[in-house]
Amino acid sequence: MKRFYIETFGCQMNAHDSEKVIGTLVGRGYEQVATPEAAELIMYNTCSIRDKAEQKVFARLQEFKRHHAGKTFAVLGCVAQQEGEKIFEKAPHVSMVVGSASYNRLPELLVQIERGDKRVTGLSLDTEDTFETPLTRRDNPHKAYITIIEGCDKSCAYCVVPFTRGPERSRTLESVLREARELVQMGYTEIQLLGQNVNSFRDPAIPGSELGHDFAYLLRRIGEVPGLRRVRFTTSHPRDFVKDIVDAIDENPVLCNHIHLPVQSGSTAVLSRMQRLYTRDDYLRRLQWMHSAKREIAITSDLIVGFPGETEAEFAETMSLLDHGRYESMYIFKYSRRPNTPALQYEDHITEEEKTRRFLLLQEKQRAMQIRQNAELLNRVEEVLVEGWNLATNQWIGKTSQNRTLNFLHPQGREANLLGQYAQARVTRTGPSSMGGEAA
Ligand code: SAM
Ligand code: SF4
Repeated sequence: MKRFYIETFGCQMNAHDSEKVIGTLVGRGYEQVATPEAAELIMYNTCSIRDKAEQKVFARLQEFKRHHAGKTFAVLGCVAQQEGEKIFEKAPHVSMVVGSASYNRLPELLVQIERGDKRVTGLSLDTEDTFETPLTRRDNPHKAYITIIEGCDKSCAYCVVPFTRGPERSRTLESVLREARELVQMGYTEIQLLGQNVNSFRDPAIPGSELGHDFAYLLRRIGEVPGLRRVRFTTSHPRDFVKDIVDAIDENPVLCNHIHLPVQSGSTAVLSRMQRLYTRDDYLRRLQWMHSAKREIAITSDLIVGFPGETEAEFAETMSLLDHGRYESMYIFKYSRRPNTPALQYEDHITEEEKTRRFLLLQEKQRAMQIRQNAELLNRVEEVLVEGWNLATNQWIGKTSQNRTLNFLHPQGREANLLGQYAQARVTRTGPSSMGGEAA
């Protein structure tokens, strides 16, 4: 059993976890293959953030069973952690169930499987370790992810993450900087720092590091790594988001002028029931810091509609928050009940139809705002990192520092060979979520 196939579902953290899992396995002599047909070990890295995501896991596991009987199956990630050994009952063909806080044990668990054990688990959340591997496979040739903090110590009432990813553990600043330097040596110029709440990063190597070696300090240090052109980060929690982060971005253009600051609701009462630990006014103050920055900062966010008890008036406050936010884009979710979460104490009385109605109202308002805001970008010249070539439109696909997509024509077309390079492009057309242009 040396050839493995891995399928990944969910957020960037999961995508990057899979890259590290691949590195770990390859380092132990396994070979990654592109299809389940070619593999002896089939791994599925799962997401359980919403109910639908979890249902998909069991449907997919059944499919795997139908087409690949006799192979070894492993379930990784959030559903593995959440369902634990129950997965063996629901899907008896699975032999390995491992949550993300136990990935350090993967080599040892694989040895047990090779020895012939039929059921192995890695489900402990009682860890202070972070998952560091000497080898990480990188899927994206232009942007590399670096995890700076794992787990989450918040307890937002709707969220499974604290149960599936365990307590917060920061990596040391030194190991993060080392990885950034190695990535530059490998040719990367853009990195994205990852964590459920990057703002609560504290360097564990420095005792009492809340007194300075915090996330803003890490940003400043990473921003100085020679050869790096762009540093992004996600996700920020408003409670721990401090003005010093905006100041760091103002000081150094390597730090991208884009901040994802999930608000979840515009109503203080709903935020309180959600246990988000900030009020609407606290959040508005953070918007103010970003809007008054020297650089133009693009802001994106997440919203949940239909959280238990959300009244029409509370929903109206979320609608009005969009006017204050002037968001670049917005991820909107319908509330979904999750196991173990504090919100289970409330009845989920808002109907699916009503959630959909609120979802569509927000979506429509946000879309109209994006059309208006983006139109102001006409004729601007932007620097883009060229990430691809669009065959259908004969355009280069670029990303701005603000994380906007700008597809542009070049007089030499594909011959210009721009992949992975930075180019200047003038905006000649704008839409709700992307822009078109030409090389400048
Ligand atoms: N740690 C990040 C944060 O605090 O924003 C991201 C958490 S989660 C992976 C991404 C988004 O999923 C959240 O911001 C929230 O909007 C949404 N989400 C989480 N749990 C949800 C639930 N039970 N129902 C609907 N949306 C949910
Ligand atoms: Fe979930 Fe809240 Fe932690 Fe984000 S901060 S992962 S929403 S508990």
